[in-house]
Amino acid sequence: MLSFDDVVARYEPVIGLETHVELGTQTKMFCGCPTVFGAEPNTQVCPVCLGLPGSLPVTNKAAIEATVRIGLALNCSIASWCRFARKNYFYPDMPKNFQISQYDEPLCSDGYLDVEVDGELFRIGIERVHLEEDTGKSLHVGGATGRIHGATESLVDFNRAGIPLVEIVTKPVPGIGARAPEVAKAYVAELRDVIRTLGVSDVKMEQGSMRCDVNTSLNKLGETWGTRTETKNVNSLRSVERSVRSEMIRQGNILENGGHIIQETRHFHEDTGESTSGRSKETATDYRYFPEPDLVPLAPDATWVKELKAALPELPRVHRARLTAEWGLSALDMQSILNAGAVELIEQTVAQGASPEAARKWWLGELSRHANERGIELGDSGVTPSQVAQLQKLVDEGKLTDKLARQVLEGVLAGEGDPAEVMAARGIEVVSDTGALTVAVDEAIAANPDIAEKIRGGNQAAAGVLIGAVMKTTRGQADAKTVRELVLSRLSN
Ligand code: ADP
Ligand code: MG
Ligand code: ZN
Repeated sequence: MLSFDDVVARYEPVIGLETHVELGTQTKMFCGCPTVFGAEPNTQVCPVCLGLPGSLPVTNKAAIEATVRIGLALNCSIASWCRFARKNYFYPDMPKNFQISQYDEPLCSDGYLDVEVDGELFRIGIERVHLEEDTGKSLHVGGATGRIHGATESLVDFNRAGIPLVEIVTKPVPGIGARAPEVAKAYVAELRDVIRTLGVSDVKMEQGSMRCDVNTSLNKLGETWGTRTETKNVNSLRSVERSVRSEMIRQGNILENGGHIIQETRHFHEDTGESTSGRSKETATDYRYFPEPDLVPLAPDATWVKELKAALPELPRVHRARLTAEWGLSALDMQSILNAGAVELIEQTVAQGASPEAARKWWLGELSRHANERGIELGDSGVTPSQVAQLQKLVDEGKLTDKLARQVLEGVLAGEGDPAEVMAARGIEVVSDTGALTVAVDEAIAANPDIAEKIRGGNQAAAGVLIGAVMKTTRGQADAKTVRELVLSRLSN
């Protein structure tokens, strides 16, 4: 059995990613139905998105605009004229049995996205960005797995049918060797951030508004590219990386044993990290694509496209470079912030008044640890940037020590309210009232005469023992600096 390292020593991987993004338009692609996520099944449908006879589609302008903006952000050329195409297929969750998509005339083509992995830049070519309609959603119930095998019945929800879907297809990416899994993940993360910055989709992989198909092939060093497989619906960034890695290992072992790779789709299983064979891949001719006769061609006006380009927001890479400079960070610091998914959270915390160092400390420290323990995204912990800024302000004002602040944060994480509310409810406060502290200090001195003697003799380092004792009796609420001053002044000659 070849390991990943064995595989990359003998073979060269090529990857290619197809990413589907559901646009966050108010209405569907070709009808006026609403697109709210999570509504009761089949409550957001009409004759057009159900594909009833006689209904006719009308193109959603907001979807075109969003797609052009994505294309521009990915450095693509925008077609001055293009058409939708019918993709004919048996779709159990699409009663028309065809999908309105784009084929040889995509709205945007030939761009690129720059992606960084550990300070190294990779330029990922973008083949095309096109627009299509989403299908409905099948639910297989009665079985143990939620998959069709073993289910007693299947249900279809058409609320999703007709939601605008943008497909972003990369050119094949060769020459990245052992970096292939990381590059794939970094590309999807960067693409997600670009689209989020454009504000055209919420790009939530776990809710399916961003879905990835990962193509992988291997060839012997110096030979032509191998046959690719397409791993479908890889639904988290971590899975993008794992699916490339596991597919490289799987293919490498087949090739090493003299086998051939079959061009097929594969299904990735999040739980095991392995994939299983899907269907053997049909070719474009099987779909009998032809220009959609029910829609007029698209001809984006050149001036309009120019205006959209001029109005693009600052894109993530540029934005991050600016923050790195403003916050006085190294590229490596920024990379760890990025890896933790904390850029925006820190930015918002700074906007609420915290210093960049303090904001970074909380989000990469306590809060990252908490999120990791629970296996959730950093932004989903329930603590807001504003609460982190409030907490830090209490520390800066001397109302909390670092240690107490962590206790308060626990309360905030537990849903007990804002930091000030947690302090009041849990009775947490810094004791800097010297009267009360002096009593505690004197008790500590009386209990540790030998230590006190050392301090009197000039050994200031020994004060730590007495400070620790005072901290214990005040349950950590004493201000350490004040205690130290008191100890030293009580024991000075
Ligand atoms: P399909 O509709 O069959 O999935 P697409 O053109 O939509 O085809 O996407 C194919 C994807 O596979 C693209 O991202 C492309 O870059 C990638 N690809 C093509 N050839 C290879 C290869 N030999 N190895 C890995 N990926 C490849
Ligand atoms: Mg495809
Ligand atoms: Zn509809």
